[in-house]
Amino acid sequence: MKIKPAVSVISPDRIEPDIELLLKIKGDFVPEGELDASSAYAYAPFINAHDHLVGNWFPRSGDKRPYPNSHIWVEDMRHSFAVEERNNFWVNDGSFKLTEPNAYALCQLGAYKNLFSGTAIVQDHSPNQPDSYYKGFPVTVLKKYRQSHSITLGNWWGGGTAEEEMAHSKGQMPFIIHLGEGTDELTKSEFAKLKKRNLLQPNLMIIHGIALTKAELKEIAAVGASICWCPTSNFYLIGKTLDIESCLKLGVNVVLGTDSTQTGGINLLDEFAHAHEKFPEIPLQTLYAMITVNPAKALFLPADKGILHPRSTADLLLIDAVERDPLQNLLEVSSEHIRLLLHNGIPLYGDAKWLECFQTVPADYTQFRVGRREKFVIGDPMELNDRIDAVLGYHKDFPYLPF
Ligand SMILES: [Zn+2]
Repeated sequence: MKIKPAVSVISPDRIEPDIELLLKIKGDFVPEGELDASSAYAYAPFINAHDHLVGNWFPRSGDKRPYPNSHIWVEDMRHSFAVEERNNFWVNDGSFKLTEPNAYALCQLGAYKNLFSGTAIVQDHSPNQPDSYYKGFPVTVLKKYRQSHSITLGNWWGGGTAEEEMAHSKGQMPFIIHLGEGTDELTKSEFAKLKKRNLLQPNLMIIHGIALTKAELKEIAAVGASICWCPTSNFYLIGKTLDIESCLKLGVNVVLGTDSTQTGGINLLDEFAHAHEKFPEIPLQTLYAMITVNPAKALFLPADKGILHPRSTADLLLIDAVERDPLQNLLEVSSEHIRLLLHNGIPLYGDAKWLECFQTVPADYTQFRVGRREKFVIGDPMELNDRIDAVLGYHKDFPYLPF
């Protein structure tokens, strides 16, 4: 099947009208039929560089904001309304065995949060889980990474020491750590400690980095490490964010992440819009790179991710054109406007009429209505919501689910 969207955002630097895209689905099958895409824009599916899938309960927690550092919040949030409500379904006992059925249901919910915002690849910051964990999600949850929670708290949630984890990475996959999430002396001292422990390496991805100085950002840029920026979470929790202006001037590889909804925004589309609202001087092209090509680099993804491939389009995000500029468009749309999310040749979500063209894809889907539109989605997120409702005894609304 060939489609011709009004504009195709091939990469942040290449945005072209009237390009034909040849859709490929699993098994190299080119689907039959024709659907009009002339009032839609094409993008590469997004990449969310930072989430905690199990933590996407709602509303946010943090009664004593702004916190001088996030480590205080880690303790404080245990007594929040959201965590106490969630305890009825799953209690975080610190063991982080996320394959346990109710924990896994919450992680699935977090995966759907990403899917419904056009995000097909997610970094789930948690201790490394058994292989089976990564196989059952509707989106790609990356398996190849090593991590530490933070310099100050260490791996309280599981995993080796930061040095052991970095050694395991062999420089061939990202090493991920929360760092400088605060404004006090403790968080300001974390970068020096990281360096002393020889963790400033090209495969390092720092999460947050609010406390980093210009000199420290310069060192990060020189090594070629990445920083994951989570402005919504930062402003909510700490009241301040990363020195993004210096990062961009210095050429740091900045990626955008949502964090979980315990502190972050609703999803990656929301994060994109919020970053723009707070920093309108940053070109949208630069922000778009932070959810496509930059995280592809930081997370060691295959070369075909984060960009569109017109002659063999197995990854595609097709969205209604509601604005003239396709990047401005991303500020105005929500999950309802997504016509098709295709990932690794598998349709994940979109308008139901598209699914008819993909009959030969062996996967299970459910359908639901959003406004006047009939949508399909891979798997059954409504069943997840029902399971939670059955335990709570009332309907729990998650704002990132469009049904
Ligand atoms: Zn985090």
